[in-house]
Amino acid sequence: SASSLRIERVETPAEENGVQLLETEKTESSTSLSIVVVGASGDLARRKIFPALFALFCEDRLPQNVTIFGYARSKMTNEELRNMIIMNLTCKIDKRQNCNEKMDQFLKKCFCHSGQYSSEKHFMELDEKLKEKESGRSSNRLFYLAIPPSMFIDAVRCAKRSASSGNGWTRVIVEKPFGHDITSSREMTGCLKQYLTEDQIFRINHHMGEELVENLLVLRFSNLIFQPLWSRKYIRNVQFIFSEDFGTAKRGRYFDNYGIIRDIIQNHLLQILALFAMETPVSLAAEDIRNEKAKVLRSISPVQLEDVVVGQYKNDGHGQGITSHGHPAYTDDPTVSTNSLTPTFAAATLFINNSRWDGVPFLMIAGKALHSKRMEIRVQFRHVPGNLYNRNFGTDLDKATNELVLRVQPDEAIYLKINNKVPGLGMRLDLSHLNLLYKSMNEREIPDAYGRLLLDAIEGERRLFIRSDELDAAWGVFSPLLKELEEKKIVPELYSYGSSGPAGVHYLAAKHSIRWG
Ligand code: NDP
Repeated sequence: SASSLRIERVETPAEENGVQLLETEKTESSTSLSIVVVGASGDLARRKIFPALFALFCEDRLPQNVTIFGYARSKMTNEELRNMIIMNLTCKIDKRQNCNEKMDQFLKKCFCHSGQYSSEKHFMELDEKLKEKESGRSSNRLFYLAIPPSMFIDAVRCAKRSASSGNGWTRVIVEKPFGHDITSSREMTGCLKQYLTEDQIFRINHHMGEELVENLLVLRFSNLIFQPLWSRKYIRNVQFIFSEDFGTAKRGRYFDNYGIIRDIIQNHLLQILALFAMETPVSLAAEDIRNEKAKVLRSISPVQLEDVVVGQYKNDGHGQGITSHGHPAYTDDPTVSTNSLTPTFAAATLFINNSRWDGVPFLMIAGKALHSKRMEIRVQFRHVPGNLYNRNFGTDLDKATNELVLRVQPDEAIYLKINNKVPGLGMRLDLSHLNLLYKSMNEREIPDAYGRLLLDAIEGERRLFIRSDELDAAWGVFSPLLKELEEKKIVPELYSYGSSGPAGVHYLAAKHSIRWG
């Protein structure tokens, strides 16, 4: 299982500060952990972070001496914060189970501190409150920045100067977006590094914590049958597909500044592509994996405009605007300008310039307001040379090629399409699925991605977090394209809400001989 692959290590605070000390044996009781959710009143904190912390608490994955602080400008008492948290708590282990007692125990560990994100004085007050709760020889502190990116640097400065741990580690989880382009991303990295070392920064991309993304490396590197196939020799193309069946969902203001390429493709899909395509790492240690990912990202040529289709959703034709019964267009969102050219859909073909992947198209597709919600990796294999059974497929040989699908969402599954004889007299072939459905393997709920990543940050496990050189390389792939799209004011192709996206994607797929749709 993924958990058996977790690389357990104990890191001393001295190690993080670059000081050589003998490893000291730590026991539960000598270490305390404070988790500070900065932006506790926000959507992300409420919907994802507190529930994920509760799930870890239920699984006894948090240390006994844990304290959770919600930090926000909004004035809230401890009671008000707890009431807000409980609204989103469900029993994560087993929905049939009653978790009331666990919830009470969890809420007793949650406290609120109100303050400005740029006030060192307010963080100093937080520091006093943290010290009251902390006990033991070593007090570790984890800050989760769930605030708008414009506040990141101020909050990091204050946390570092006024509230970092004096005798344990201090780590900061930073949420996307990590800049707007390569220049602003470098600026942000530079500013963060004024206050933190690289190994204190945990850039989170929650899709990296999905069960199947974790399993991608297991699949690749622990199954002999896939290893020889994983190259241009047998793989014809790879598709990374992310689709949502809803629009901006009240996040139009944020989204309009970024668009789907920055929001999904440049970070989520490119990170998964790097795991998919990287060479075997020296070990499962974080730096070995991140070294290989960074190499792949650096080998990808910047995306060309002619290899891209951008789209924007219009209403679904059942009436106009948000007051009708139909679904609204993107530009009907009151927080989005009516003449916005921001893409809500994009498809882009990428190429990796190395000997393993030379010439293999990697098609990334992401869109909002499409007909289904899914995230998949589809690997299409080449034709069988000299295929004895060609006549079964006539001229449509494409139908006969194998395809491996890793479905990350919904209903995690891995299936392989193989040619199979249709039972009965005569010789007819059909593509059947060798199917591994996760649900049927496991009674327990699959852990939430945020929970997995929070636990990794607590344990100092960095392999699923993005290092600054990876981030830089990822921006390098898309920054020139984003600049060109914006400078040339490229008009996105409109597609109906609930459809399969703009027609242009079929032409793009056909251009690279990709079987699509
Ligand atoms: P919110 O807009 O809900 O903001 C979070 C909190 O930040 C608010 O509760 C508010 O707290 C404070 N805040 C909001 N606007 C400002 C401002 N202009 N100046 C100072 N403080 C402000 O954000 P989310 O919770 O949705 O997201 C937080 C971060 O996580 C963002 O960087 C976002 O991009 C990222 N993210 C969010 C996801 C989500 O699903 N929501 C998914 C992935 C990433 P108060 O006023 O009480 O201080």
